[in-house]
Amino acid sequence: MTAFWESTKEIMEEAGRIAGFSRDLLARLETPDRIHAFEIAVKMDNGAERKFPAWRVRHNNARGPYKGGIRYHPASNLDEVRALASLMTWKTSLAGLPYGGAKGAVAVNPRELSARELEELSRGYVRAIWQDIGPQKDIPAPDVGTDAQIMDWMADEYAKLAGRPEPAAFTGKPVGKGGSEGREVATGFGGYAVLREYLKNVPNLVWHIDPSQTKFGTNPAVAIQGFGNVGANIARILFGKGFKIVAISDSRGALYEEAGIDIEKVIQIKEERGVIDRGACYGLSPHQAPCKTFTNEELLELPADILIPAALEDQITAANADRIKARIILEMANGPTSREADEILADRGVEIIPDILANSGGVAGSYFEWVQSLAPLENLRRYESELRSHIGKPAWTVLQQEVSSLTGLEQNYWSEAEVLAKIDAKLTEAFAAVRAKKEEYRTTWRMASYIRALTRVAEAMK
Ligand code: NAD
Repeated sequence: MTAFWESTKEIMEEAGRIAGFSRDLLARLETPDRIHAFEIAVKMDNGAERKFPAWRVRHNNARGPYKGGIRYHPASNLDEVRALASLMTWKTSLAGLPYGGAKGAVAVNPRELSARELEELSRGYVRAIWQDIGPQKDIPAPDVGTDAQIMDWMADEYAKLAGRPEPAAFTGKPVGKGGSEGREVATGFGGYAVLREYLKNVPNLVWHIDPSQTKFGTNPAVAIQGFGNVGANIARILFGKGFKIVAISDSRGALYEEAGIDIEKVIQIKEERGVIDRGACYGLSPHQAPCKTFTNEELLELPADILIPAALEDQITAANADRIKARIILEMANGPTSREADEILADRGVEIIPDILANSGGVAGSYFEWVQSLAPLENLRRYESELRSHIGKPAWTVLQQEVSSLTGLEQNYWSEAEVLAKIDAKLTEAFAAVRAKKEEYRTTWRMASYIRALTRVAEAMK
């Protein structure tokens, strides 16, 4: 059993215990509905055939169709996908979306494949599972190593197999090809919205920090691990809001500048050259000396008020939890903190805003893309009998209203500002519900989030 899956299981068990669930119910909540393991054969550019292990784990659909991304990463494995699938169930439940949870992965380094090989792999993935995909069944999206282009290939392959275009079967599609404005920034934006609610609602924590150790109240210092979709977007948003981003990193290592880094410049260079400029780093200090460089492990321990892991799981463990200096951890990656580290950090008074709350802006954005892809109302009606009985009458009524509200808008689409406002409303509500559970059970943010999420799923299962 991998550490990530073990930690995920332990968290579910602890939340179930606090909420008073029976062993039987807990076992049912933990067990995935279906595990699909397969291989995808790709004819490589050199003429040889290579087989890639792949998975789709459908964890739970008590609240609606399965929903979850597809990851391309060389270290992906079944335990990881199983843990990530369960996180999706809790995340969609917490955000109040009419979805269940699933996840997919291919053990591959996408950077080693040519565009043609990557397309063949992505189409092969869909051919293996397409019969169980669909707007009312299971709706994949991008994750680490996959993007809008890959979703476009997948949606196209699905359309060929199904015999008709079915844009609502995938989210994270390119804008202009069924994608939604705002989906690209949704996860980062959602993280900001949750952090804002946290800072607004828990002022005591901020005031309790020794003023000599923090810059809260002026511009909190933030360290961000990972500079992909999630890390770069939240960096840009927080930078724009006046937070001081003192450290960033990608898979090649970390950069640190005490006076803060000009995130707009870093992004501009990354867009031009494809990588973060490690030479200049664009510190905000007047002397413009190059940033200090660190490893990704060291980044976690750098002086900062807020630490944002936005790369991969299992980064904060019993081995380094003692050395984390941040007072707040906003988990934008899935599963970045091990169960043991969770306890060490709680003892030290470090507050963790957990992944299933902090990064749920992504799936909330996906929901609004799905709604737009289901419009107009005549199209939604094709799924009425299945969806209505599946997601329940209240969620069906909301869905109908949302689809109707798109009628008359240009091409049935909302603007980025409208999508982000909708995500904001969902996450603000989710945060308030978690806060209420935290007070009721006098527990951590993670446990409160899990209790809220598990309870909702258990109710739907009944
Ligand atoms: P991405 O592929 O766009 O970016 C990942 C980033 O992490 C890259 O900058 C990469 O260089 C860096 N990285 C890789 N290995 C690293 C390492 N060992 N140490 C430090 N950095 C490393 O992926 P993403 O979509 O930004 O996803 C990041 C995390 O957020 C994942 O845990 C993912 O599951 C989670 N997440 C993503 C979304 C989404 O909408 N994309 C939604 C919710 C959660």
